Amino acid sequence: MRFRIYRYNPETDTKPYMQDYELAEIQPDMMLLDALEEIRAQDESLAFRRSCGEGVCGSDGMNINGRNGLACITPLASLKEPVALRPLPGRPVIRDLVVDLSQFYQQYRAVKPWLIREDPLPEVEFLQSPEERKQLDGLYECILCACCSTACPSWWWNPEKFRGPAALLWVNRFVADNRDQATEERLSELDDAYKLFRCHTIMNCADVCPKNLNPAEAISRLKHRMMKDSI
Ligand code: SF4
Ligand code: SF4
Repeated sequence: MRFRIYRYNPETDTKPYMQDYELAEIQPDMMLLDALEEIRAQDESLAFRRSCGEGVCGSDGMNINGRNGLACITPLASLKEPVALRPLPGRPVIRDLVVDLSQFYQQYRAVKPWLIREDPLPEVEFLQSPEERKQLDGLYECILCACCSTACPSWWWNPEKFRGPAALLWVNRFVADNRDQATEERLSELDDAYKLFRCHTIMNCADVCPKNLNPAEAISRLKHRMMKDSI
């Protein structure tokens, strides 16, 4: 199977280039991450991130044949040849397939992704009814892989000002949580021309999310909630 992989080492290369590789032995159940490990066994200079290999840690996000995804849960059998691998778009490249995600994490931290309460916490568990718990489905499963934000044109143009789909999904995760008491504060923090309203509902985020989440819908709910509260 043939691969074309983006290579760039800022310490030695004047510009990026695509390097061709070939793997002779492909097993039917191999994932893209398995292939990358075999390629790295041939060429140890190739850099990419990986950790769990099970679609849980989110570290091997990359652009696979033009679409962001996780290498560990992408079957080789689903890919056309040559498989073109590039770093997640719109971020500075540290080396090869490894990008700098500082901005992504800054935006995540900026939305205070934790429960905020004025009332004291209960002594033991904070029980929710099954209905209250159900409100979090489709929101809490985010693994912060950055596939969505780095596929979002609005975030490419304004990564410092637009929170991006992942961080906004997290805002909705806490707005939807009946234990959180900071909804007003969370929404008023987003009330400017950029942080939330730069989303133009292009839907790339929902298209690429490897956990099948829908950040665009979460964003739309936040917009509606904000507008309802302002009437
Ligand atoms: S729906 Fe909004 S957040 Fe998602 S990719 Fe489009 S502009 Fe970005
Ligand atoms: S919403 Fe999906 S694509 Fe975006 S960071 Fe979370 S898991 Fe990744």
